[in-house]
Amino acid sequence: MRTGKGEHGKPYPLTEDDRDDSAYRENGFNILVSNNIALERSLPDIRHPNCKHKVYLEKLPNTSIIIPFHNEGWTSLLRTIYSIINRTPDILIAEIILVDDFSDREHLKEKLEEYMARFTKVRIVRTKKREGLIRTRLLGASMAKGEVLTFLDSHCEVNVNWLPPLLNQIALNHKTIVCPMIDVIDHNHFGYEAQAGDAMRGAFDWEMYYKRIPIPPELQRSDPSDPFESPVMAGGLFAVDREWFWELGGYDPGLEIWGGEQYEISFKVWMCGGGMFDVPCSRVGHIYRKYVPYKVPSGTSLARNLKRVAETWMDEFAEYVYQRRPEYRHLSTGDISAQKELRKHLKCKDFKWFMAAVAWDVPKYYPPVEPPPAAWGEIRNVAANLCVDSKHGATGTELRLDICVKDGSERTWSHEQGSVLQAADCYFGCC
Ligand code: UDP
Ligand code: MN
Repeated sequence: MRTGKGEHGKPYPLTEDDRDDSAYRENGFNILVSNNIALERSLPDIRHPNCKHKVYLEKLPNTSIIIPFHNEGWTSLLRTIYSIINRTPDILIAEIILVDDFSDREHLKEKLEEYMARFTKVRIVRTKKREGLIRTRLLGASMAKGEVLTFLDSHCEVNVNWLPPLLNQIALNHKTIVCPMIDVIDHNHFGYEAQAGDAMRGAFDWEMYYKRIPIPPELQRSDPSDPFESPVMAGGLFAVDREWFWELGGYDPGLEIWGGEQYEISFKVWMCGGGMFDVPCSRVGHIYRKYVPYKVPSGTSLARNLKRVAETWMDEFAEYVYQRRPEYRHLSTGDISAQKELRKHLKCKDFKWFMAAVAWDVPKYYPPVEPPPAAWGEIRNVAANLCVDSKHGATGTELRLDICVKDGSERTWSHEQGSVLQAADCYFGCC
């Protein structure tokens, strides 16, 4: 029954002024639009019609909802909380833990504490230094008391009855990770819609880019609203049995800031005796950013994270990754002996098993292939020991000269025949 701009997840009518880049700079999405639509706006119920008739166990486990944030916008954070409070049976929420990853924006300090005092279930904890999203999620998880841990990003809107279908799947088998369908909240106008293709399996190519592939006929279910197996998760939105998460060692705490952790947890779950499902009757909207707005500490390397995961879990298949990304060969991963030990202790299956039993359809889309001729390396003024590196700053990508340090992957450039020169580790917009 609600009326107004943005209601029912409709696109906000943008004016020319609203589109100015200044509206995007702080968050990577249009904060003016976010500020102008209701915190408790309505969303379209775009679930499969069968979801309305599904029944779930009478007794479901409760959950701690863990939301890491770093310099999140005020209204986008609040809308996340309101959507949870309004669309979740209260009895299933043990607590909502907001974990501040060392934000410096004023509105996230006392103002946030004062505002959140009205929600009895919300707790705020803060990291003591910038930890990045992986260790920030871990901090939230370490304080959580609920039977299940549910992780969300700080700019989401949960949709109708999103939680029970997730908890139900875990109640049936506690060695299960479940993910909702992640819907798209447009970073310009905040319109809410399903991703292209909607329900798809999570996959990866041999450069370790996350991909989505169709559900193969072998995995089609008579009821398309039933959960289906997915080899890897997108990353930010999932639920897991708390005790089992810790049995699995949580995330590898040696992963830095952002990225690679979705592969680590996915490989680990499958290879160490569990399974992962996407649940079509659970839908959560997520604002996909236009660009990464926050600063990433210098020296942060997604490549290093990915190599760490590849070395720990991918066995001989890691070689396919290094063929595509030869610059990984000389990167150091740090000490992974504890991760290897965990793998042995949990008696995990090997990656060959994972590829054959779980991700068997992935090579049909992304076959490991001989890479085209490529060169990689650094651009160095030897006399001055200065190297060209790329840095993602407030105004976009900057090139600069910096002292050459060993293993700085942000300084590695690659060139494939017939393509342009690019930063080898170009995930933070430094391409
Ligand atoms: N985040 C964090 N510390 C960081 C970077 C991100 O706590 O150093 C939080 C961020 O606020 C969000 C979640 O981690 O809630 C995922 O990050 P982001 O949304 O930037 O990733 P994306 O969805 O764009 O992949
Ligand atoms: Mn996000």
